[in-house]
Amino acid sequence: MGEADAPVIRLEDVSKSYQGGVHALRGASLDVRSGELLAVVGRSGSGKSTMLHLMGTLDRPSTGRVLLRGHDVAELSDRRLSAVRARWIGFVFQQFFLSPGRTAVDNVAEGLLYHGITARRRRTLAIAALRQVGLGHRLWHQPHEMSGGERQRTAIARAIAIRPAVILADEPTGNLDSAAGAGVLALLRDLNARGTTIVVITHDSALAGQLPRRVELLDGRIREDSARPAAHLTEEVSR
Ligand code: ADP
Ligand code: MG
Repeated sequence: MGEADAPVIRLEDVSKSYQGGVHALRGASLDVRSGELLAVVGRSGSGKSTMLHLMGTLDRPSTGRVLLRGHDVAELSDRRLSAVRARWIGFVFQQFFLSPGRTAVDNVAEGLLYHGITARRRRTLAIAALRQVGLGHRLWHQPHEMSGGERQRTAIARAIAIRPAVILADEPTGNLDSAAGAGVLALLRDLNARGTTIVVITHDSALAGQLPRRVELLDGRIREDSARPAAHLTEEVSR
């Protein structure tokens, strides 16, 4: 899909209002380029999840444009958009969203439904993804038999099984102790090193500080983007 040079995700002056007059995002512009690993940081309510939903085409902006590889998502039908999302974007959430009573393999394979892949092939891909996240020894365990870190790794395996171009992770370490959180972050770095573009949302500035690029949100606005030096710095450089 799309032009090779275009950013994987572009937000152009995007705003999002919810009913009740909440302005969750106000005029945010941002490019996510292929191969990036970036953190979106900000305190609770600053608009991080709203931004992730728009990047992931789970929601449409009130104003402004969202482009995936140069294609305006507003021009895609809901049906086409679902297909693009399923093929290109893997989601990871704070709450894991695994089905209880089902094995890790089943949970990951379930994410491959609706891709026209046979059940046998889904299982093969699920096992490969679980091995890739270091869970080769937990294939047949159910969520209640796994630690929090292992559950999140299972959720990450589900997100990567189709080999999406982008992973969007909303507070992926939010329910984990610091050791398990560090493990999940290391895994995301590893996936990024293998070529997956990753956006991690977090309210944890220490975690964000470990990532190559940070975008800080405050009250729905981008307050700072480490890839875009502040105006006074740019001036100094160009002088
Ligand atoms: P964050 O993820 O940074 O905590 P959110 O994007 O979830 O922030 O929320 C930003 C603002 O938008 C908050 O004031 C929140 O209450 C509001 N909000 C988020 N989702 C909805 C919704 N579906 N309906 C109404 N208001 C919402
Ligand atoms: Mg949030």
